[in-house]
Amino acid sequence: MLTNMKTCKSCLIVDRVEGVVIGKDGACNYCSGQKHFGVMEDPAFRDAYDKKDVFYTELLDILKNSKGRDYDALVALSGGKDSTWLLKFVKEHSGGRVLAVTVDNGFESGIALSNIERVKKALGIDHLFIEEYTGVLLKAYRYLLTHNKDRNTVDILCRICTIVWQSALLKTAVKYGIPNVYIGYSPDQIEYYFFRITEKRLKENWFPREFFPEDMFSEEEKKLFWLGESEGGRPAVYFPFHVVPSYKSSRIRAEIAKAGLLPKGRSSQTLTNCRLNWLMMYRDYRNLGYNAHLPSFSHKIRRGIESRAEWNMSLFLAKIFIGNALFPRKLMKDALKKLGLDFSDLVKKR
Ligand SMILES: [Zn+2]
Repeated sequence: MLTNMKTCKSCLIVDRVEGVVIGKDGACNYCSGQKHFGVMEDPAFRDAYDKKDVFYTELLDILKNSKGRDYDALVALSGGKDSTWLLKFVKEHSGGRVLAVTVDNGFESGIALSNIERVKKALGIDHLFIEEYTGVLLKAYRYLLTHNKDRNTVDILCRICTIVWQSALLKTAVKYGIPNVYIGYSPDQIEYYFFRITEKRLKENWFPREFFPEDMFSEEEKKLFWLGESEGGRPAVYFPFHVVPSYKSSRIRAEIAKAGLLPKGRSSQTLTNCRLNWLMMYRDYRNLGYNAHLPSFSHKIRRGIESRAEWNMSLFLAKIFIGNALFPRKLMKDALKKLGLDFSDLVKKR
């Protein structure tokens, strides 16, 4: 059994998360300022939040002045509120020659998919639905969900999935001669990047060989990953919400509803989230005893963006319902079926 887990009195993070230490006063090393979240571990980024307006001016300038061959901008469209708002924003601030791209992972919610249809029609924007990565992703999900059960699933599965779909976006940008890619990470999604992907990272080959057995992917499949220097171009990748002033999810929802893009009832995160999420949370509750998203929730609580009291309650309920596969059981079972797995495959044998 999983016992002796200490919880930070302020941000709810637990000491079972890698690198977290809870002091005698009950506060974690993040809360006491000894540790920083995501890219903020690097002192170079530490004051980036305070320079948001400088980056924002740069962003508007880039949007206005970047010209490409077939399109000027590529926007990742997931069918959620943030990517919808971002698409409208990029269209309005650039010359309007925008390509929206959705990378099919096979687990998008039905609502997200129908949102995409609505939004592209309403904005009159060209849209590509990329399906050639679905096979690689399915293979990766199945492997990652059933291995390394001592590791937080977000840390491994979301990381790899992100590498895959961002590879698809970058290769699409190269194919159509598009200089810039825009991704709707929320302001506090700073696990790996702030505002943009670094030049250094873009020069690397992104195939994550340390995560998989040598022969799991064919040479053809490996070529679907961003190959860095050997690609025929190097588009820039931006995360505009890191620098857009006064981001509020309620404001984003209201604005896209007002613009006739997504009515409020269709933009809830629970509805538009990737369906693998439930399985990831289930897996981590069973094996680690805490929510897979706890590190990022806690970060938001520390930043005052999310309420500690609300999350305390949500996490309590999630642990009971998701941790015991009670709800949403049907969605969980559907996802497992698609993966050819069973609940027991996700849980460490004891
Ligand atoms: Zn804390």
